Amino acid sequence: MDYDLLIIGSGPGGYVAAIRASQLKMKVAVVEKAEIGGVCLNWDASLQSPLLKSSQVLDYMNHASDYGIRIEGEVKPDFKAIIARSRSIAEGMSRGVQFLFRKNNIELIKGSGTLARNNTVEVKDAEGNLKNYTATSIILATGARSKVLPNLIQDGTKIIGYREAMNLDKQPESMVVVGSGAIGSEFACFYQSLGTNITLVEFLPRIVPNEDEEVSKQLERSFKKNEDESAD
Ligand SMILES: Cc1cc2nc3c(=O)[nH]c(=O)nc-3n(C[C@H](O)[C@H](O)[C@H](O)COP(=O)(O)OP(=O)(O)OC[C@H]3O[C@@H](n4cnc5c(N)ncnc54)[C@H](O)[C@@H]3O)c2cc1C
Repeated sequence: MDYDLLIIGSGPGGYVAAIRASQLKMKVAVVEKAEIGGVCLNWDASLQSPLLKSSQVLDYMNHASDYGIRIEGEVKPDFKAIIARSRSIAEGMSRGVQFLFRKNNIELIKGSGTLARNNTVEVKDAEGNLKNYTATSIILATGARSKVLPNLIQDGTKIIGYREAMNLDKQPESMVVVGSGAIGSEFACFYQSLGTNITLVEFLPRIVPNEDEEVSKQLERSFKKNEDESAD
């Protein structure tokens, strides 16, 4: 066997298991077809911390007088700089995982892994070359994908998913966000705070339907208040 453990996917499900297995003296490799660190470190965390932090800072500055602080001159978000900061933080976290792999002697195999027979994983690299790797144990840590809605096929420009929404060249004047769960509401909050006109679509009776009713009410009030403020 080439490895004691082969893991497909380098998100938190994969890289944490890889590090622990290596600490337990196993010979480990991780197969990854996209960004090292998975959706979590490259996308989820870059929505939560850097983008929402920028919108929070902007909100503080717009309401600075409430805190007894006078700001002279115009407070304006620099969309490109906000996106660049968020991508650079994500890249830093991804490099951190690559450092941990090197430190723990975990081999990184770049390509798309498919579970084949007899403890074998077939990996197709970016050039289309195929190579087989064998391992005593194999972990599938391939994460989840966003749901494809049959009547809203993503084209990457007009109808976009979370990756594009976190990496746009230009701030859109208006945006329809389909789904008001935690992720949809975070996007709505971020873009609305920058001045994008947001329509949030939810087919259940209230937004953030998995949260307590009071949370839905409070968030809806906050979205409406921000909308009224930007209309003034
Ligand atoms: C915008 C956004 C915001 C989120 N916010 C939160 C939050 O606030 N709190 C929370 O708990 N969760 C949040 N999530 C969910 C969180 O990101 C996931 O739960 C987490 O990433 C799951 O980790 P994972 O390791 O299972 O998978 P992932 O992080 O998805 O990693 C899986 C990896 O496997 C790779 N892969 C898949 N198939 C193959 C293959 N065949 N060959 C090689 N590699 C492959 C993928 O490229 C990916 O890198 C959010 C997700 C998104 C998209």
